[in-house]
Amino acid sequence: MTAHTKHASFEYLTTRKDELVGWARKFSLFPYPFVTACCAMEFMAVSASAYDTDRFGAALPRFSPRQADLLMVVGTVTQKQAPILLKVYEQMCEPKWVMAFGVCATSGGFYQNYASLPGIDRIIPVDVYVPGCPPRPEMVIDGIMRLQETIARGKHRIINDTF
Ligand code: SF4
Repeated sequence: MTAHTKHASFEYLTTRKDELVGWARKFSLFPYPFVTACCAMEFMAVSASAYDTDRFGAALPRFSPRQADLLMVVGTVTQKQAPILLKVYEQMCEPKWVMAFGVCATSGGFYQNYASLPGIDRIIPVDVYVPGCPPRPEMVIDGIMRLQETIARGKHRIINDTF
């Protein structure tokens, strides 16, 4: 077997394994709801049985960042809250993803003032933005599904040169 063949088969193996891990991870999301404001009502609605986020493997919120892999930032974040949000994000283990839930988390919304953060992506990376004030549950579900596509397509770090 030549070095080239070895390399090709290794790439085939890692690609297939990435797909398997991505498939498993996209259906085992554990959200941490960082809830600060009125979007909480819609978060409760989307978490209720009518919308059944269990279909997407994302029904069980974790209230410890160390047990969560999806940080859902729900509502307005003030400048004073920003360091707390950053600390929560840093406490989460890899791999982790972030959803900006609603226009306030996305861009500050209509709170364009000195006290509000003009979007959480000023301090942490965001994987999916869900628009709306507040977003309808269907939009949140759409955001979860888009995030699942991203996770499924992604490279998963447990794959390395030795495995
Ligand atoms: S987006 Fe609208 S509903 Fe959500 S926290 Fe901001 S003001 Fe409230």
